[in-house]
Amino acid sequence: VIEIGQPEHSKVTTCAYCGVGCTFKAEMRGEELVRMVPWKDGKANRGHSCVKGRFAWGYANHKERILNPMIRDKITEPWREVSWDEAFNFAASKFKGIQAKYGKDAVGGITSSRCTNEEVYVVQKLIRAGFGNNNVDTCARVCHSPTGYGLSSTFGTSAGTQDFDSVEDTDVVMIIGANPTDGHPVFGSRLKKRLRQGAKLIVVDPRRTDIVRSAHIEAQHHLPLLPGTNVAVLTAIAHVIVTEGLVNETFVRERCDWSEFEDWASFVAEPSRSPEATAIMTGVDPKELRAAARLYATGGNGAIYYGLGVTEHSQGSTTVIAIANLAMATGNIGRSGVGVNPLRGQNNVQGSCDMGSFPHELPGYRHLSGDAVREQFEAMWNVKLNPEPGLRIPNMFDAATEGTFMGLYVQGEDILQSDPNTSHVVAALSSMECVIVHDLFLNETANYAHVFFPGSTFLEKNGTFTNAERRIQLVRKVMSPKNGLEDWEVTLGFAKALGFEMNYTHPSEIMDEIAALTPTFAGVSFAKLEKEGSVQWPCNEKQPLGTPIMHMNGFVRGKGKFMRTEYIATDERTGPRFPLLLTTGRILSQYNVGAQTRRTDNVVWHEEDRLELHPHDAEQRGIRDGDWVRLQSRAGETTLRALITERVAPGVVYTTFHHPTTQANVITTDFSDWATNCPEYKVTAVQISPSNGP
Ligand code: SF4
Repeated sequence: VIEIGQPEHSKVTTCAYCGVGCTFKAEMRGEELVRMVPWKDGKANRGHSCVKGRFAWGYANHKERILNPMIRDKITEPWREVSWDEAFNFAASKFKGIQAKYGKDAVGGITSSRCTNEEVYVVQKLIRAGFGNNNVDTCARVCHSPTGYGLSSTFGTSAGTQDFDSVEDTDVVMIIGANPTDGHPVFGSRLKKRLRQGAKLIVVDPRRTDIVRSAHIEAQHHLPLLPGTNVAVLTAIAHVIVTEGLVNETFVRERCDWSEFEDWASFVAEPSRSPEATAIMTGVDPKELRAAARLYATGGNGAIYYGLGVTEHSQGSTTVIAIANLAMATGNIGRSGVGVNPLRGQNNVQGSCDMGSFPHELPGYRHLSGDAVREQFEAMWNVKLNPEPGLRIPNMFDAATEGTFMGLYVQGEDILQSDPNTSHVVAALSSMECVIVHDLFLNETANYAHVFFPGSTFLEKNGTFTNAERRIQLVRKVMSPKNGLEDWEVTLGFAKALGFEMNYTHPSEIMDEIAALTPTFAGVSFAKLEKEGSVQWPCNEKQPLGTPIMHMNGFVRGKGKFMRTEYIATDERTGPRFPLLLTTGRILSQYNVGAQTRRTDNVVWHEEDRLELHPHDAEQRGIRDGDWVRLQSRAGETTLRALITERVAPGVVYTTFHHPTTQANVITTDFSDWATNCPEYKVTAVQISPSNGP
């Protein structure tokens, strides 16, 4: 006799929310998921979980989920449900027609950091080998692309340096632009445990996040900088380290290019870069900044953890470089307890970047311009590859409004909600002749789509995700896809209709191809993942069981590279019309634009996004807690309820963006990182005023 709720069978799989990569035992009764039990042997979570991974999986059964393919000729027409074959043929004939009329480069695609490595790989392969161009980009463009640029330039590889276990040996934790309590809760708890054991804490963040002061934890130093001044603050920290003789000269001489170090040291030592000279600009007390710099440089093993508060700026890449400079100057790299650790937002941001989703790089971050690299892929794929880099997402939108980019395949991302400058995205999508949305729900982007490929959830597919510590873990199918096909099979169906066949019968075969083509993945296979539980790349002949800590005996690029970090203020300035600075973040129970978590019971914890503002700013405007306020920027306006709090400093306001009515990206500007085009979501000049509601 089976009791109600009693599981019949189970499988271990990986959470599909954040970059921590917790593993769970999915307990099933037939095809019904009964519960998700945190897996005690999970290397990233060791039996822990948060309210998203544990409870927020009900979206898989949500009534709004689309299970049948749909097509329409015009976006003004109603959708027509069709068979998979009809949808594939319709999409293929549209894309072929566009390429015949506008040229080969008039189509492209966007891969998803929510999908598996194998699913991302086949989309980029379809674009490069099937479409015949390199117009492939990833949703990581709008989050961690500056991490790729900054860490590749300085260390030689686009990834965090440590495993999560490394924090056990850390003496000083520096958190920059991240809120691990809400954004990466399981690792956040681990950080807090280490802090309770006595590690010291420095927080660089405009907002007093929970970790600054919570049970048994009080940060030694909180530097509440003005949004947009990261580079000035980190360069001032470097100034203190250099001018007070705190550089680890032995490490720098052995491991880094000395002449580049000398150039950097003379640059940061200039008096104009001191904490005192930059205090008015950054809003940071110079005494606190000096004390924080001394603590990081002399307090033992120093580890830096950072998030989107670093990358989503016009100087996002410069900020990542500034962080790398600090770690090299103090010798905090290449052993347990130290390092530079980007906290990745989505479950597979690391993987989607590793899989060749950038217009200039093939899988494994190998540049298209390398003849030998291209030849290796050409031999395996049996095609001739175009050596010219393709378009990034913002360039695709620009080309669409100019009439030269007419077809887009969007895998698992609601670009209308997640990309900046909503009106420009609308104009771009409206200009295209065929937009394919491949997703679970009819999202906002689907309003402008001609083809809808229903997607499968992480519970309905096999594959792998790669977490923030480069850990590759299996995603195991615990139920049949409700839409009939796993996502990689959908891409293969579309490719076949286009005349480009990819013959795999299981995602493990896709991983075998990735391993054959990508030196850092050469030792990865599903069989090894089954046996070992997980491996961290690089995983190859030299390190068959993977690499928990990178750069131990030398940087991947050879010598570590110091680079100057000139602070250039964003063009998004405050002034009489827009005197406040808006920045954004997340809460624990919800995830990004809420497409999944809002369709689960987690919604009871969060009914609306609120605008946090300081009591001083509220009083000046006659706003009381809970009042409706109108939030205006140069780009647009929206309406939210006020939450009056001293978590934010006077002059700074803050909101989350989990609910579609918040329309945060109607407000944000279209400024972006100089190197990668990552949007500047974290700094918007705004004005607020009382309102009667939306
Ligand atoms: Fe999932 Fe991240 Fe929560 Fe772990 S911490 S359960 S990976 S959302």
